Amino acid sequence: MIKRLLLVLLASATAVSAQTTAFGTKATANAAETTATTPATKGNAKAPEEEVDNTVVITPFRSLTPPEAKTSRTFQLSKVNKLGFTETSKELQRLYSAFATQRIIDGSPSGSSKATGYLATVNYALVQDLGDNRFLAKAAWPAAGPNDILAAGADTMAVLLLDKPAKVGDAGKITGMHVGTVALLFTATYPPLVGKRLTLRREAFLECATLEDSPAGLQRFVEAITAGAELSVTTNETIPCKKCGGLGFTREAQKGQLLDKRVPCADCASTGKLIISVETKFVP
Ligand SMILES: [Zn+2]
Repeated sequence: MIKRLLLVLLASATAVSAQTTAFGTKATANAAETTATTPATKGNAKAPEEEVDNTVVITPFRSLTPPEAKTSRTFQLSKVNKLGFTETSKELQRLYSAFATQRIIDGSPSGSSKATGYLATVNYALVQDLGDNRFLAKAAWPAAGPNDILAAGADTMAVLLLDKPAKVGDAGKITGMHVGTVALLFTATYPPLVGKRLTLRREAFLECATLEDSPAGLQRFVEAITAGAELSVTTNETIPCKKCGGLGFTREAQKGQLLDKRVPCADCASTGKLIISVETKFVP
């Protein structure tokens, strides 16, 4: 599904490339010639306008940054709320809520797939229609991922692939999956850049729907694991710093002194805590 969406996002890039190979070079050369000769042959002022290149080319510029877990653990459903085990129904609920926000609903047998990019709520106002439900938009989204790998956007131009047709000026809110940075070659149709052929490097988002975080959703999730589905969730967890044992400093014996010297822990910036990315695998 994601692959298909990416293909859609990039589809016209391929189409245009093919065209470029076949006719583009020739056409570009002609356009340049026309521009160059226009001042000499006055009265032909409309010609360059007719030759405005309205093709849109979207190519990947920087790939997306999939969540990467530093460590992994398992969560065993049969141990939930049993004495002596850390598995609790509260923890299951918390992990399922995170799981639900990391899956996108699609046509796969399980009804959803792991999102390959960070998901963020994107507020947008459409600035230009790029064809095939792709738009250049002024957008805002919160930072996402460990250490905010995907930086927040505020009044930032971004490329969106929407689920349904829309028109310039429309504003709204979507759940967007970040698919990386793309290079967009296009002719602007919005002021003050109307008619300008530009290349922008912009973050790209695909509109998608996430799993429902509901008791029924949790029930289906548990049933799927019991039936043998291999599911996991990646979350940021706070753990005590190993180097300093959660104290925020280490001790260093000083010659001739009763008290040890306290050395601030560099690993945890003296906080005693570390935030690490953990993949939790669910087992029956
Ligand atoms: Zn430390």
